[in-house]
Amino acid sequence: MLAPYACDPARSRGRRHPEPDAPTRNAFQRDRDRIVHSTAFRRLVYKTQVFLNHEGDLFRTRLTHSLEVAQLGRSIARVLGLHEDLVEAIALAHDLGHTPFGHAGQDALNECMREDGGFEHNLQSLRVIDELEERYPGFDGLNLSFETREGVLKHCSRANAQRLGEVGRRFLDGTRPSLEAQLCNLADEIAYNAHDIDDGVRSGLLRFEQLDEVPLVARYRHAVLREHPDLPAKRVLAEAIRRMLSDQVYDVIDATRAALAIHRPKDVDEVRALPVLVSFSAAMRAQSDELKRFLRANLYRHPQVVETTERGKQVVRELFAAYEQDPREMPADHWRDGRKGRRAIADYIAGMTDRFAIREHERLTGRRLF
Ligand code: MG
Repeated sequence: MLAPYACDPARSRGRRHPEPDAPTRNAFQRDRDRIVHSTAFRRLVYKTQVFLNHEGDLFRTRLTHSLEVAQLGRSIARVLGLHEDLVEAIALAHDLGHTPFGHAGQDALNECMREDGGFEHNLQSLRVIDELEERYPGFDGLNLSFETREGVLKHCSRANAQRLGEVGRRFLDGTRPSLEAQLCNLADEIAYNAHDIDDGVRSGLLRFEQLDEVPLVARYRHAVLREHPDLPAKRVLAEAIRRMLSDQVYDVIDATRAALAIHRPKDVDEVRALPVLVSFSAAMRAQSDELKRFLRANLYRHPQVVETTERGKQVVRELFAAYEQDPREMPADHWRDGRKGRRAIADYIAGMTDRFAIREHERLTGRRLF
C-alpha cells in the first residue's frame, strides 16, 4: 500500500555501480540485507550510546538503539504508506559511523582531524557504506541505493556536501530528503529520549521523580500511579515510557497526515521541494525539546557520565597520536595500498568498539584508563 509520495524501489535513483536487480527482493530490501551482513553493523553491539558498554549489560548499545529506531520507523511508515524496507535500511545504517565512546569519541576525533576536514559521525556512516566496507569483488562499500544513502546523511557541512556529488546536493540547494529519511530522523529522537530516561533511571543516575520537572514525562508517571498505586517502580517506569512512546508515535502520524493534506505531494520530487512534512505537532515538539534539555543537563552532563566520557576522549586522542607516530601499529591494510595519512587513522579508530579501543590503548601506552 505504497502512497504516491513514498519512495518506490522501482523508480530508485539507483546505485553508484550499476547492478542487475535481485530476482525476489526490491532494491531497499537488498540494501537492508547488505547492512545487516556488514562488519560495521556487528560492531554496533559493542558501541556506546550513553553508558559505556562495560558498565552493565542492561543498557542500550548502538545496536539495540538502531533496532528501536527501525521498529518505531516501520510502525509509522506502515500507517503513512511509506516504504517500510527503506525506513528499516536507513534506521539500521544511521549510526554505523559512530566512534567508540559515543559523542565524546566523535568530539575527540574531530579535534584530531581539525586540519584535515574534521570528523562528523553522519558523514562517517555514509563513508562506511560507500567506501569502507570491503565485501564485494567489484567495488568498495556496500553500493546501496541513492535513497538509503540520502537518508543516512542527516547533516553535512557545505564544504563536505560540495565534494559528495548528488547525495550532498540538498545541503547546497536547501531541499529536503524523502519522507522515509525524514521519518528516521524523528524516530531516532523519539527512541533516544525514551531509552535515555529508561537507562538513566535504571542506572541510578536519574531518579524518576526528578523527571516531574518535565511535564511530558510527569503526566504519564502520575497517570500510571493513579491507576496502579501499588505497582512496583520498575513497572511504573516501563508503563510510563510505553505510554509516552505510543503518544509520540500517534502525534507524528496525526501531524504528518495534516501536513500531507495541506501540501498534497504527488511524488518524491515534490516532497523534496516542500518543507519538512514528517514532524511532531507544535505542542509535542516543544515538549520533546524540553525533555531533551532535561536529559542534556541532568544525564549527559551528569558528573559520572562526563568523567567516563572524558577518559574515552583521552583514549581516542592518545590512540590517534600513537598511530600517527607509527602507522605500522595499525593492521597493514590500514596503511598500505594507497590508504594514507590521518584519514586512514580516523577511519580505523572510528571503527573500533569501546572495549577494543580500551585494550588497544593499553597495549600502546601501557596505561589502563578503564
Ligand atoms: Mg541514532
